[in-house]
Amino acid sequence: MKYIFVTGGVVSSLGKGLAAASIGTLLEHRGLSTLMQKFDPYLNVDPGTMSPYQHGEVYVLDDGAETDLDLGHYERFTSGVLSRMNNLTSGQVFDAVIKSERRGDYLGKTVQFIPHVTDEIKRRMHLVTEQNPLTDVLITEIGGTVGDMEGLLFIEALRQFALEVGKENVCFIHVTLLPYIKAAGEVKTKPTQQSVAKLRELGIQPDIIICRTEADLDEDNRRKIAMFCNVERKNVVAFRDVAHSIYECPLDLRRDKIDRLVVDKIGLGHSPPPALEDWEKFVQRVVKPKHRVSVAVAGKYIVLQDAYKSIYESLIHAGAHHDTKVHIIRIDAEAVEDHGAKAVIGDVDGILVPGGFGDRGIEGKILAAQYARENNIPFFGICLGMQIATIEYARNICGLASANSTEFDKLTMHPVICLQEEQKGIEDMGATMRLGSCESILFAGTKASDLYQNADRIHERHRHRYEFNSDYQDRLQEAGLVISCVSAEEGLVEIVELPNHPYYMACQFHPEFKSKPNKPHPLFSGFIEAVLKNSLSCENSD
Ligand code: GLN
Repeated sequence: MKYIFVTGGVVSSLGKGLAAASIGTLLEHRGLSTLMQKFDPYLNVDPGTMSPYQHGEVYVLDDGAETDLDLGHYERFTSGVLSRMNNLTSGQVFDAVIKSERRGDYLGKTVQFIPHVTDEIKRRMHLVTEQNPLTDVLITEIGGTVGDMEGLLFIEALRQFALEVGKENVCFIHVTLLPYIKAAGEVKTKPTQQSVAKLRELGIQPDIIICRTEADLDEDNRRKIAMFCNVERKNVVAFRDVAHSIYECPLDLRRDKIDRLVVDKIGLGHSPPPALEDWEKFVQRVVKPKHRVSVAVAGKYIVLQDAYKSIYESLIHAGAHHDTKVHIIRIDAEAVEDHGAKAVIGDVDGILVPGGFGDRGIEGKILAAQYARENNIPFFGICLGMQIATIEYARNICGLASANSTEFDKLTMHPVICLQEEQKGIEDMGATMRLGSCESILFAGTKASDLYQNADRIHERHRHRYEFNSDYQDRLQEAGLVISCVSAEEGLVEIVELPNHPYYMACQFHPEFKSKPNKPHPLFSGFIEAVLKNSLSCENSD
């Protein structure tokens, strides 16, 4: 296996994850098999317990790992399916070391940062290598910025690891910022020089420097960076602000042939140049689509750019598939509560209610679902969104006015959504999350089954505690709610839909974790198709 390590310098939020993912895209398009992973220096064992305000979205993998949202980029930009082995945090490293110490594994030695903590990081690297014998290149992004105290042990472990596997098999890439000083009209290279100096102080000489720039990178600056950072001039690569879409990033990095530089460094120079036609076509449809629609996403963390990242990306993928730009209108569900659905989302082409936890904005989401149902506006509910759709239907169609989820009203008379333990009458509630991929059965003749091209079984990722209460299944079905999918093992409701509606679909799982640029998720694709139809018919009737 060959290894690429991507570090960051100067500031955070540089697009380091996107740079790493783009390199993955380019290498894959050269026919190389890649696997991506992230090292996060924070002490949380995983981001599962972090607030979206701290961390943006929690990205869930097939095996149920709750990971950094950069892993979402990795899975969207490459075809590798990742596992919990691919997101290592300092929390996990220390946890493992302390457990070993308690077991007596260190045979009485003093347990130290070096070598014991760095050895643990290297052990994980070797384990990933052994577990993926068919992978050509393992790309590892190191979270944070070089110079951060908390990242030091990871950097030191990588330095040692490169020596162990042979430097010729390793490529170090450092992503930095070239700030543009408006008053001077100049791009500045000093922060980059200093950040590379810091890395070299730690024993790592980067092979390639990726420079984030607003403007272009001129020859003078390239030469200056090459000289002072001790790299060849051609290995100073520009990474410009992309004009429209993050999916342009691989194409931008390709301009300076980053993939060629990488393969030359790690001895895979025989691989052919990347065949990027499909990717370029996809980007074209994202950048210059024929149609335009608006979709309201009615959620709780709406001010945060990153809280519903995978949903926004999935809408882009589905939009591109239908040659459509999806204009996302982020709606705070509480505003719907305060001003009514018509005033807040009266003129959108489609409504999406995403996942979420806690009761803030719940009534607003219920109003949004009701508005979509009554006015034939395409509706897509995801996880909490499905629970909302069920509550709305129970209240307004089945006449169960107090229907609710026990997450929001413990004592509700009609717990149409509740914990499985509550359904089984178990008193001592662990309330564990259903996490990761699970097999479900689709029922033929439903819209969902159509969209999945009549597949019998599907595998989708979950992250929730509460479930559709089977005690209410008959009542809701008799009133017209169609259950189109249940989990294979326990028969838990996975998808509900309404037949006499342009598109009213809600799923308990998270389809947004399995959508890819040229392979939109069928439920998103069906949603956007209906949204487009709705928008075109409104145009015609104007
Ligand atoms: N809060 C709900 C539950 O725990 C939904 C979770 C979600 O949308 N991810 O079941």
